[in-house]
Amino acid sequence: MEVGLSHTDAFVKLALLDGGSFLGDLSRLHAGESGTFRMYNWAFYIAHQGRHILWDLGLDEDRSCYTPWVNKFMLDIVNHVGPRRTIVQQLAQRGVAAEDVDTVLFSHAHWDHSRPISDLFPNAMAYFGPGTRVACQPGHMRDPSLQWDGRFFDPENSTEKWDELHGVWKPFGPFERALDYFGDGSFWILDAPGHMPGNLAAAARLQDGEWVILGSDYLSSAKETIAKIGLLETKFGAHTALAHDASWLKKGTDQVLMSLLDDEMRVAAQEKIPYDEIP
Ligand SMILES: [Zn+2]
Repeated sequence: MEVGLSHTDAFVKLALLDGGSFLGDLSRLHAGESGTFRMYNWAFYIAHQGRHILWDLGLDEDRSCYTPWVNKFMLDIVNHVGPRRTIVQQLAQRGVAAEDVDTVLFSHAHWDHSRPISDLFPNAMAYFGPGTRVACQPGHMRDPSLQWDGRFFDPENSTEKWDELHGVWKPFGPFERALDYFGDGSFWILDAPGHMPGNLAAAARLQDGEWVILGSDYLSSAKETIAKIGLLETKFGAHTALAHDASWLKKGTDQVLMSLLDDEMRVAAQEKIPYDEIP
């Protein structure tokens, strides 16, 4: 299964977190269709060697935590809802305190994945992919018409502890640039260009040796990245969990991905998500 990906026995603990949802526009998904559908928004929790890490944060119901641009051009339109159990509550149910979270990795800087963390996770440092800073500075505090969040990207008045990911990028399967995050081959951050500058995906090795790809967002413009993730599935047997994809939860047949759910999400996958309801 893992031949050619990473020769290791090391593994991480990986869990899916409910990051809320919003109403997506069908016409953007299928030409010729109209109407809306519920777009779910997953985040992930990764534990390894005493570390507690989040991959994306999903949505906060509180509009005041978003920039004016996001409020005007997104939230006025998409009817977003936060998760029924906040990310902090979901972590607590897994025995993890907010103070324990040391790192939040953001797949990219879009509002439905990233937001300031200093209030929620006081001991955490945030990371974005290389190229994010140049693309997103200075952000909304300098100019309210900018969509990017100045609390991260304002060169002088940022409030958030964050950096771009640095390290030795090396090949991982079909990806030319990947970061062996813990240094033991169990968790790789993948440079996955196409969606926006700094866009990342990740590959996590579970205890049973299976690989789960955190595919975050990619649009049809990211053909190369889509092809590479496809190769990870077909050639290497990896299982992909995209940030907005609920199809595998509805089917419920991929036991590797289903193992990422807690009991309440397992029930929601059967009783709520198939009907576009809030989990
Ligand atoms: Zn997204």
